[in-house]
Amino acid sequence: MKTRIACVGAGFASAVLARSLAESGRYRIDVFESRGHVGGNCHTSRDPHTNIMVHHYGPHIFNTSRRDVWDYVNRFGEFEGRQGFVRNTAESALSF
Ligand SMILES: Cc1cc2nc3c(=O)[nH]c(=O)nc-3n(C[C@H](O)[C@H](O)[C@H](O)COP(=O)(O)OP(=O)(O)OC[C@H]3O[C@@H](n4cnc5c(N)ncnc54)[C@H](O)[C@@H]3O)c2cc1C
Repeated sequence: MKTRIACVGAGFASAVLARSLAESGRYRIDVFESRGHVGGNCHTSRDPHTNIMVHHYGPHIFNTSRRDVWDYVNRFGEFEGRQGFVRNTAESALSF
């Protein structure tokens, strides 16, 4: 019989852990999430009228330099390429 494990939250941390444990085949996982969606603060949904992806808790950009992380996330979806430019201000000067 599989050991039951409760994972609290369906954000990335708990969801990745829950999936890894479930894929081991040794556990039965129950995920408890208080919000009405998965993804935690990274939750997004596609606006049906504009087709724009809405980041409900603020804009999120996926970054990694790790091959294993990149391979892992590509199991679940396709990424679109992008170029990012960070701009900030310090003492009223705009830097690029
Ligand atoms: C505005 C903003 C912008 C960000 N931009 C980036 C970015 O560009 N790139 C990036 O990599 N990261 C970004 N982050 C950080 C990223 O959102 C977090 O690192 C990530 O969401 C953390 O995941 P988590 O699973 O640890 O927690 P969370 O995303 O907070 O998920 C936790 C989940 O657990 C649930 N929960 C908590 N307690 C309970 C309970 N008792 N019972 C049931 N459910 C519970 C919550 O409802 C939530 O859904 C940003 C964060 C914010 C706020």
